[in-house]
Amino acid sequence: MKREIAKYQVKPHFVIIQVNEDEASNAYVKGKIKDGNEIGIIVTLKKYPLSISEKSLINEIESINQDDKVDGLIVQMPLPAQINEEHIKLSIAPNKDVDGFHPLSTLDPCTPKGIINFLVDQSYDFDGKNAVVIGRSNIVGKPMAKLLLAKNMNVTVCHSKTNKQDMNFYIAHADLIVIAIGKKHFLNHSFTYKNDAIIFDVGINREQGKLYGDALEDLPVLYKSPVPGGVGLLTRLTLLTNLYQIFRNKKRD
Ligand code: NAP
Repeated sequence: MKREIAKYQVKPHFVIIQVNEDEASNAYVKGKIKDGNEIGIIVTLKKYPLSISEKSLINEIESINQDDKVDGLIVQMPLPAQINEEHIKLSIAPNKDVDGFHPLSTLDPCTPKGIINFLVDQSYDFDGKNAVVIGRSNIVGKPMAKLLLAKNMNVTVCHSKTNKQDMNFYIAHADLIVIAIGKKHFLNHSFTYKNDAIIFDVGINREQGKLYGDALEDLPVLYKSPVPGGVGLLTRLTLLTNLYQIFRNKKRD
């Protein structure tokens, strides 16, 4: 992307909106600015006071939607309690929605798309294999299940109401497991795994300044993505891929 972007006189412009003083968010935003700058993307961080009303924030987003000089936009979560996340997600123009959260967005959400791109890059053979997705959030679990199904996998989605006995069964038969629940080391030695299973550990659990995944690091499987330094990096990469895709589509219009 860096090489491609260097060819353009006008660079892609990415706006990040932040309305929180959250430590984890600050780190994510810093990473996104650094990544963007590294490949020649202009990144503008717009921070608003925690007291901003939902209406004022939506007005700000609408003016960015209208700004031809901005290619893509994200709103860093979490938002203050007076602002409804869903209203904000829907206020972002689908053709600028880098996160791929808008129902009309043509882009897929970054975390699941990053995992799929990685597997495609590794020539992973998806057809007819068993995938288990643990967690059913709108940003990871659900879109992950949809993308794996589109790759012809047999997909099972587990969540907090799945009982342990069923979970044992699904995990024991899984070729690919994606876990995104936010529970430190939920996948541990109490489960049985196929020895050629692959686990993508999306979870990020902070304890005394250290990060832990939703799965133990030493499970008896073929591969488990590390935390940190695994899915988080794929997500960061895919965010820029999505932005670059929007920028290139605009050039073709
Ligand atoms: P979320 O909105 O936090 O929802 C958690 C999901 O986990 C829900 O679907 C919930 O089930 C399920 N769950 C909770 N406890 C469970 C249990 N004991 N057994 C089975 N399922 C259980 O999900 P999220 O936003 O996708 O975040 C999940 C984790 O991924 C967090 O740690 C987050 O920080 C991390 N994350 C990482 C990245 C990255 O780039 N690495 C990106 C996004 C998120 P119910 O629906 O039944 O409540």
